[in-house]
Amino acid sequence: MPAQQAGTRAAALFAARLTFEGVERRYGDFFALHHVDLDIAAGEVVCLLGPSGCGKTTLLRIASGIEKPSGGRVLINDREVAGPNAFVPPERRSVGLMFQDFALFPHLTILQNVAFGLKRMPLEEARREALAVLTRVGLQKLAEQYPHTLSGGQQQRVALARAIVPRPSVMMMDEPFSGLDVQLRDEMQEETLALLRETRATSLIVTHHPEEAMRLGDRIAVLRAGRVVQFDKAETLYDHPRDLLVARMFSEINEVTYKVLDGSIETPLGRLAAPKGMNSGELAVVCIRERGVEVSASGQGLPGRVLHVRFLGDIDLLEIGVQGFEAPLRVRTPHYAKWMKGAEVGIEVDPARLLVFPAVNEGSA
Ligand code: ATP
Repeated sequence: MPAQQAGTRAAALFAARLTFEGVERRYGDFFALHHVDLDIAAGEVVCLLGPSGCGKTTLLRIASGIEKPSGGRVLINDREVAGPNAFVPPERRSVGLMFQDFALFPHLTILQNVAFGLKRMPLEEARREALAVLTRVGLQKLAEQYPHTLSGGQQQRVALARAIVPRPSVMMMDEPFSGLDVQLRDEMQEETLALLRETRATSLIVTHHPEEAMRLGDRIAVLRAGRVVQFDKAETLYDHPRDLLVARMFSEINEVTYKVLDGSIETPLGRLAAPKGMNSGELAVVCIRERGVEVSASGQGLPGRVLHVRFLGDIDLLEIGVQGFEAPLRVRTPHYAKWMKGAEVGIEVDPARLLVFPAVNEGSA
């Protein structure tokens, strides 16, 4: 059975700052986490985003106390809870945990599942508290039912109620929405966020999905191979991604590769500055956002021809052959613009919206 949230109820909820200082986790020679520094403000909602195996769950497990770091420190409200000087067990950290599969106890009723987080409270009081939280998530009528009789969304609400009922100062959720279908996911994201804000819990949410992270997180920590690559607000990650891989996560882009010559890159869109430190002959990638291209009747900008139009609802995805580019550019335009296959067009790109990065070795990415 996976570890559950703290067994005691915080007497009063206090907002908690959560700090990782140089946290490492090694398994033999393998580093699951390399020197992770993150400072999360009290009441802040932070998403951990990254590909499978990058260390997201390990970081949650270390913050909750299920696992110990091999190096570095974790602090809650400036008090060391894991590190060379101290180790505070999970039940004394005031942390709540919620898992991807919800991990409800099949042999307990919904009410008993929620009250489980309040083991140390007198039974009647625990039932009262549990019922109050179930009412808050709209499930009081199902209190005496068993988990298998509930829909996915209802089970998610029970898991959330169980994690929140001890009023943890820090809430940690490991891919809490991945088991839900898309429509339900949207609804549950909104509800969960509202509840987290209400309880003022500092929250760490693991996700694979950039859109989910943008929607939920006050800030997003992008992890890759055990390192925090960038820790910023969604807008900053979108406007100023630190590297090509982060850029790919947050927007649909055309990537065109050029050789650097004397610190600059010659493109059909004009001469661009190469990233600092790049030498002549090295490869740089120019990123043109699919939503960042202005299409107009021919005559303005670079001449091109619409090769393909794909209807995607509110927007059309166009493929445009553009003079000077070997491959067609993908461009997203509002559907009402109604560009037709074969149309002669002009395209313009604001150079300030272009991103330029050193090319990545895809094998090592
Ligand atoms: P996912 O999104 O697939 O859940 P993740 O980002 O949460 O992945 P972790 O579960 O934190 O990744 O694992 C990080 C790395 O540490 C992985 O390469 C994993 O194989 C390794 N790892 C985790 N636990 C152990 C362990 N007990 N022993 C050895 N290696 C481990």
